Amino acid sequence: MDIFEKIKCDERMLRAREAKESGLYPYFVPLDGTEGTEVTVEGRSVIMIGSNNYLGLTTDPRVREAAKQAVDDYGTSCTGSRYLNGTLRLHRDVEERLANFVGKEAALVFSTGMQANLGAISALVGPDDFVILDKDNHASIVDGVRLSLGKMKRFRHNDMRHLERVLSGIPEEAGKLVVVDGVFSMGGDIAPLDEIVPLCQQYGARLYVDDAHSLGVLGGGRGTAAHFGLTDEADLIMGTFSKSFASIGGFVAGDAEVISFIQHHARSLIFSASLPAPNLMAVLAALEIMETEPEHVERLWENGDYMLEGLQALGFNTGQTETPIIPLIIGHDEPTFLAWKLLFERGLYTNPVITPAVPPGQSLLRTSYMASHTREQLDQALDILATTGRQLGLIPN
Ligand code: PMP
Repeated sequence: MDIFEKIKCDERMLRAREAKESGLYPYFVPLDGTEGTEVTVEGRSVIMIGSNNYLGLTTDPRVREAAKQAVDDYGTSCTGSRYLNGTLRLHRDVEERLANFVGKEAALVFSTGMQANLGAISALVGPDDFVILDKDNHASIVDGVRLSLGKMKRFRHNDMRHLERVLSGIPEEAGKLVVVDGVFSMGGDIAPLDEIVPLCQQYGARLYVDDAHSLGVLGGGRGTAAHFGLTDEADLIMGTFSKSFASIGGFVAGDAEVISFIQHHARSLIFSASLPAPNLMAVLAALEIMETEPEHVERLWENGDYMLEGLQALGFNTGQTETPIIPLIIGHDEPTFLAWKLLFERGLYTNPVITPAVPPGQSLLRTSYMASHTREQLDQALDILATTGRQLGLIPN
């Protein structure tokens, strides 16, 4: 049989084709330009409330300048793996600064956050080990476990009784790693580390926290463990540069010996080219701003709180969010796509999220806010959301 045969009847492809035919296909929309809070699409300016640029630093003049200078100083690529010719002194500098920022002994930089999760988890987990995941964890964590030879167990989202039940069912002598998103990327709620840590201690499990959406957001920007005052108890803290750090790349931080082990076993690190200097310099510049100008994190929360209050007053279902990631839960795919299209036509960029990223029947528009949004932009967004929500019967008239 031709291996391409399945493409013709693939469910996801059929849905994409239907959506394109009805003008409701919302993915891979090319942006012609971006200034952070506003993007240009086909000559139109659209307010961005669908990005992970939480602190708005992608357009900060200091971050831009640092990346430009790096091109002059180092060229455009390292053309090799960290293992061989691809480690710059800059990688080491970023690792030291990051370890210090999140309160760990050492850190290891990967070329993306996805690669950090794939590499670190698959390196640590052996055939006799168990990995215990929250059901809403990011796909890169699930794939990291799949790449390992260990066994995967999942517990219901943020359900501590279920986590305990799962832990108590695993043989005592087996190695155990609990992995959670610190802030959940779609729901915007926080993993209760204050409850997870004692369970890990009781059952002899190590804890790995994916802080992709928490760095620059929680704990004064230092992440979920800092937010709970549990930095020492979170054994490994993973982060990405593609959000608050205004760049691309990822890292994992922990005890020096553990990080060194990951460094010598993670295939996504060893067999892939290293992060280029402009991205590293952007991270350093963003980190410097986070450490010295707390007002960006403060403004992010002011904007997030303002929108949450406004959206809830309008009657939107915002789920369990506790952060500036605010889902607008709609339910079925069709009205979600329709809402996305109307909002987009009216000048608002949101992200429609359907299964498998969320459970069936829980389709939503993911909105997220930035420190750099102006009050005017947020009020305009609320106006457009109110009109559209009423028109589609998503909120009361
Ligand atoms: N973990 C989480 C929770 C994420 O949301 C993401 C990206 N959306 C990643 C990991 C992967 O990060 P990156 O984009 O740097 O590959």
